[in-house]
Formats: sequence, structure tokens, C-alpha cells
Amino acid sequence: MVLMDLLVRRCSRTTPRIVSVVAQSEGIEPERMARAIAAGRIVIPKNPNRKHVPCAIGEGCHVKVNVNIGTSGPHCDPALEIRKAKAAISNGADAIMDLSTGGNLLSIRKKILTLDTTVGTVPVYEAVRRAGNAADVDADLLFRVIREHCRQGVDFLTLHCGVNRQALAALRADPRVMGVVSRGGAFHCAMMVQRDEENPLFAEFEYLLEILAEYDVTISLGDGMRPGCLQDAEKLAKSVEYVTLGTLAQKALAAGVQRMIEGPGHMPLNQVGYNVRMIKEITGNAPLYLLGPIVTDLAPGYDHVVTAIGGATACMHGADFLCMVSPSEHLALPLEKDIVEGTRIARIAAHIGDTARRPEGYRDKREVAMANARKDLDWKEQFRLALYGDVAQEIHARDGELDTCSMCGDLCAIKVVKEIFEEKGRKKKKK
Ligand code: SF4
Repeated sequence: MVLMDLLVRRCSRTTPRIVSVVAQSEGIEPERMARAIAAGRIVIPKNPNRKHVPCAIGEGCHVKVNVNIGTSGPHCDPALEIRKAKAAISNGADAIMDLSTGGNLLSIRKKILTLDTTVGTVPVYEAVRRAGNAADVDADLLFRVIREHCRQGVDFLTLHCGVNRQALAALRADPRVMGVVSRGGAFHCAMMVQRDEENPLFAEFEYLLEILAEYDVTISLGDGMRPGCLQDAEKLAKSVEYVTLGTLAQKALAAGVQRMIEGPGHMPLNQVGYNVRMIKEITGNAPLYLLGPIVTDLAPGYDHVVTAIGGATACMHGADFLCMVSPSEHLALPLEKDIVEGTRIARIAAHIGDTARRPEGYRDKREVAMANARKDLDWKEQFRLALYGDVAQEIHARDGELDTCSMCGDLCAIKVVKEIFEEKGRKKKKK
């Protein structure tokens, strides 16, 4: 226990008791998890100022799902956003990010913080709202908002520390079709260009780490330069930002601040693997939180499916944390039903990612049980095992109570083969 305490305290005030409970839920030896936390390969975002069931993100852990909710200027209904957050949690979300930019931001955040889940925010959004526009946000205001979020109990903060002068120079030297599509990234670019100053989160990174260490809050190093379309995937700015994030990740680890990395945006499917592996290598295998990858720009309305394909592929190469994309992505603020659909699809992608991260020869018990239930045409068991059995049951029930399903009916291959083997078995017994 002493060793574990030492290991954990090297990178956060997370207690050995929390590590033990979380490790148990992941099926990992507590000491192994503590070592991974100390080495920065796993994080447990958990603000000591708030009680909730935490989760672990990173090496050897199940892939986690975050769901973004939040009001916007044109659409501000805080009660709806709380309902969305609750719907996301009951459909499998492990974390909620409050990205509200409309209405009373403190009051919305306070309500989100009462939920029994890991909560993240992007403080620069609130700083811009308070200042009126991005160019009027100064370092004092930004750090004040960050401190307030920490004090209020937020578990992890997305902070775009890698959007610095070097990244801006790369953007200018190798222009992109979509420029900057990260909202936080765009705000920091506006602050830097209009004020002719370095990003304070980069320039004062050591001070930022002091604040985060004081409140034991995890930093999610934002990918402000993520590409916004497939054509931009190979442009320079994102790679320059990766390298900066690698340096900052090392500094955070040395300062005892838990950190994860965000990436990599829109890109063709064949580029996902090497981007994930590159980020992991540059950042010392820090937990990787994915926004996307959106692997085609041609399917608005189905971007939740597009992201699931990119996300599962990324998990196969080492990504740890998926951000839900709803069917409304790129089109409108999501409705509650979009959040439910998006969360379910992200959860499925996370499960597929999990199966791809297992060691060779590993057999998932639930997958094995499902195969047996299918072989036995045991519908009740199939619905129980399914990730979303309610939907499966509803579809199966459309054509009444059949022992097969209405796809092939009396020509059901499973039934035909079963009957042949049962008949053969009976004949053998008679002999
Ligand atoms: S009827 Fe066809 S689709 Fe349905 S369970 Fe049998 S083999 Fe599968």
C-alpha cells in the first residue's frame, strides 16, 4: 500500500483506495495501474472537490466515451442540456463535457457537476463570453476562469496550449482549406494575432501547471490545429502542434499533473493508424482522447457512423477515449434523440476498439455467449447480451413471435444445420 501511495502521489492526489476500486472495475492489478498513472500512461480525472464514480483512461483500460452537451447562443435551454447529459449517461457515456456558451454558464455547470460522472469543460469559451470577443481575452481573465472551474469541481479541462506562434507560422506556411476548425483553437489564434502576443497557456505553462496541481485537475491538451477536412490532414500545422504537445506532456508529468492528449480530427482512414501511433510516441504514451477521426466529409447526417469507423480503427492502434459525435454534427445543436443515438454508436465503436486492443487469443466472454445464443436461436438471451437489446427486440418483434427470424423464415440456415446435426446425433445413438 505504501508503494502504491508513493506511485499514485507522483502524478496526482488520487488515493490508493480510488485506484484500487477503478483498477478492479478494469480487471487490472492495482499496483500495475498505479505504476501506469505515475508513468502518465493512465489518468483518473477526479477533482477532490466533488464526489462521483471516477473512471480510468489509458493503457490496458476499456475504451471510454465522452459526450459533449451544452447551450449555444442561438439555442439556450439549460434544462434540455441536463436531460441530454442524463440520457448520455444512461446510454453508456463515461464522461460529460459541458461546452455551454449561452445563458448563465455558472448555473449550468453547477447542475452538470451534480451528476455522478466525470466532467470536463473548455474554460476559454467562458473567458470569451465574459470578455465579449476572443481578442479581449487576456491572460488574467483566462487563468481566473481556469481557477474557478478547478475550484468548482471540474475533473478535466481542455486547454489549447499547443496553439502557439510556431503552430500559427506552420498554418501560414502551409495553408489549409478549412483553416482552424477547433473553436478553442480559433479563439486562441484570434487572441494571438489581434493582440500580437504568444498564447498565455503556452507562455505561462508552468503557472498553469501550478493551478492544476493545486486542485488535482487533469489537463486535456487540446488539438486546436486538428484538420477540418480530409485535404488538410497532411498539412504542417497539426504535426507542429503534436510536437509541442509532446513537450508539454513531459512537463506536466514532471510537475505531477495528470494529462491526456487530444487528436486528430478529419483524415482518411488509412492515415488514422500512423497518426495515433505518432501522437502516442511523441507524448510518452499519454492517454489519447479522440475528436473524430472523421474519415469522410461526404456524410453529414451520418457523421456518428463515420466517426465510429474512424474511432474503432484508432482504438485498434492505441487510442483510449472517444468523443461522441451525433447525427447533427456539422449541421445543428443536437437534440436529445441525437445524443442518445450518437452515444450508442460511440459505445459500440468503443467496444469494437476494446476487442481490437486485446491480446492475441483473448476471447470476450460476452461475444462468446452471444455466439452461443445465436446458435441456439435463444432470442431472450440475445437481447440480454446485446449492447442495446431494446432496439434488437423491437426489430425482431416486428413480424411476430417466430423461433427463427423473418429474414429467411423456414429456410433459416441455423435451424437447418441444427436439425441436420440433431438428426445425425439421434441416428448415431440408435446404432
Ligand atoms: S432466419 Fe436467417 S437471418 Fe434469421 S436467424 Fe435464421 S439464418 Fe439468421
